[in-house]
Amino acid sequence: MSLQALRTAGPGRTVVLSGNEAIARGAMEAGLAYAAAYPGSPSSEVLASLAAMARERGFHAEWSTNEKVAMEGAAAASFAGLRSITIMKADGLNVAMDFLTSLAYSGTRGGMVVVVSDDPGAHSSTKEEDTRYLVRASHLPLVEPATVDEAKEMTRWAFELSEEVGLPVMLRSVTRIAHARGSVDLGALQAPPRTARYDPGARYFTTSALHPLLHQRAESARERFETSPFNSYQGPADARRLVIVTGPGFTYAVEAVELLGVSGEVGVLKLATTWPLPERLLLSHLGHAREVLFLEEIEPFMETEVKALWAQHAASLGAIAFLGKASGHVAGAAGPAIGELTPEIVIQAVSALAGRPFEPRAPEFRRKVEETRLPELPARALAFCAGCPHRASYWAIKAALELDGRDGVVLGDIGCYTLGSMQTGYFTVKTVHAMGSSVGLASGFGKLSGFGFEQPVVAVVGDSTFYHAVVPALVNARYNDSRLLLAVLDNSTTAMTGHQPHPGTGRSATGEPAPPLPIESVARSLGLAVEIQDPLRTEETVESVYRLLQTDGAKVLILRSPCALLPWVKRSRRAMVDPERCIGEACGCARLCNRVFSCPALVWDSARGRARVDEVLCAGCGVCVDLCPREAIRLDAVA
Ligand code: SF4
Ligand code: SF4
Repeated sequence: MSLQALRTAGPGRTVVLSGNEAIARGAMEAGLAYAAAYPGSPSSEVLASLAAMARERGFHAEWSTNEKVAMEGAAAASFAGLRSITIMKADGLNVAMDFLTSLAYSGTRGGMVVVVSDDPGAHSSTKEEDTRYLVRASHLPLVEPATVDEAKEMTRWAFELSEEVGLPVMLRSVTRIAHARGSVDLGALQAPPRTARYDPGARYFTTSALHPLLHQRAESARERFETSPFNSYQGPADARRLVIVTGPGFTYAVEAVELLGVSGEVGVLKLATTWPLPERLLLSHLGHAREVLFLEEIEPFMETEVKALWAQHAASLGAIAFLGKASGHVAGAAGPAIGELTPEIVIQAVSALAGRPFEPRAPEFRRKVEETRLPELPARALAFCAGCPHRASYWAIKAALELDGRDGVVLGDIGCYTLGSMQTGYFTVKTVHAMGSSVGLASGFGKLSGFGFEQPVVAVVGDSTFYHAVVPALVNARYNDSRLLLAVLDNSTTAMTGHQPHPGTGRSATGEPAPPLPIESVARSLGLAVEIQDPLRTEETVESVYRLLQTDGAKVLILRSPCALLPWVKRSRRAMVDPERCIGEACGCARLCNRVFSCPALVWDSARGRARVDEVLCAGCGVCVDLCPREAIRLDAVA
């Protein structure tokens, strides 16, 4: 994190920031008073940056228990006249939508910006989701930056827009903005006001009577979008071939036009204000364009909406060929609307539009590459780290289910423990959906005994997920007397997204002490039986899971051991394989430690036909010591 750059005084200075840091800086230049988020890549660093600056700049920053709560907190600050921001990844907007669609009706007062980071290509998500459809459904103004610098400027402006139209403004970022770094021209930092007050005459209701007002406000945003300086056009005044581009594809498009030498015939319209559509602006370009190429991330949202606009004016506009993801003209190897836009996809699409063949490399260059090609490295599967307690938890759950023998079902959730669905978790997890869904599903399975369903059901969630979305499903399970075992894999952090604190850690977003809320206290307060077990004690864990599977009703097993990568977890031991005892394949263990349990620190020494421990990777968790049938592994103290 570039804290020094974030706190640099402007204007007149230029610094290098990531897109997420640029959004944070834009908010601070707008006089931000309240920031709230739930962590989720690719958006996590926005709140992390704000939290690092909150005390010295005098604003509030918090990790909230989920995205809906974060948005509600930000709305409260707005109702009190302050500027607020809430940040989430695409999946988080689904969680917050119930409140957001209502907030659109009631409107806001102080500027409120909702940052949503989509993840084209699903680099750090379970799915690709284009949140523009949700924004359209909520009638809220939507802006999409194309560069890191624009992310900062647009965030600052979005607060002003929000106050002008009385609505929250949505800012859609994507991974290549969030995690890119670029030069940012700084403006002056603004201190938040100390004048928060709820106007006693103000009312923020959700009622259908406000539907016309919502449409009026959206129209008001559209009017401002028609002349927004964030929208720009470059190319001939009457280009018959037009590229309409949103987001980071803009820089790829400009480069493609230059490389192909078609800047005199192909126009590029960068659309930064994407909902409501700036119709007059678009119609002015559709008036001369006969072929239009759309470049946008994930779904053909803009392509569909602009085609609908054209259809309303077809008589005057005449025939236009529309090319994009919907038409199949913009696609990577996996097909249209799948994966990210890349410079290669864009240049191929612009080349086809311009009728100008593009040869990325000279044939001689490609021939030489073929001649000197190195053998491909084997693919490396996603895996739990050495010493990760989740691997031990899945080992124990799987072993207990095999002992039980009734084909038990393990329902997964969202977090690093989702890897339990893969080889590293022994393919134990059979379903993965949304935050907390494993428990809702388990609650449903737990009521199927009347239909002959006899299989035990285990829901697996992480500690942060427990606070985020599990509690209502647990209440449901208890209320309806569902039979399930909830295993909470508590590693004392929100590990997947970068070790953010949560209500159980006793630490706030700004690093101050916070009253810890233990998972067991919450579960016991619901009247549920709770056990706590260290998953690194393998045999005891298998016994606990097996025993609990034999009991009725809903119960909770907390498998508690800290993430091996937490800075305060110090390695005091490391494993060693005794080469005299390990007899490798000959003992019939099928290389249990290295191939089956598959801790990355356990390496197969093929020359000697023995397992050995990578001393650098080994975290000293000790699970392999319990597992080796030859008692060939021991733990030594680390000085
Ligand atoms: S003790 Fe064994 S299982 Fe644990 S990290 Fe070291 S090698 Fe891996
Ligand atoms: S489980 Fe024990 S005997 Fe088997 S390969 Fe590992 S160290 Fe050797």
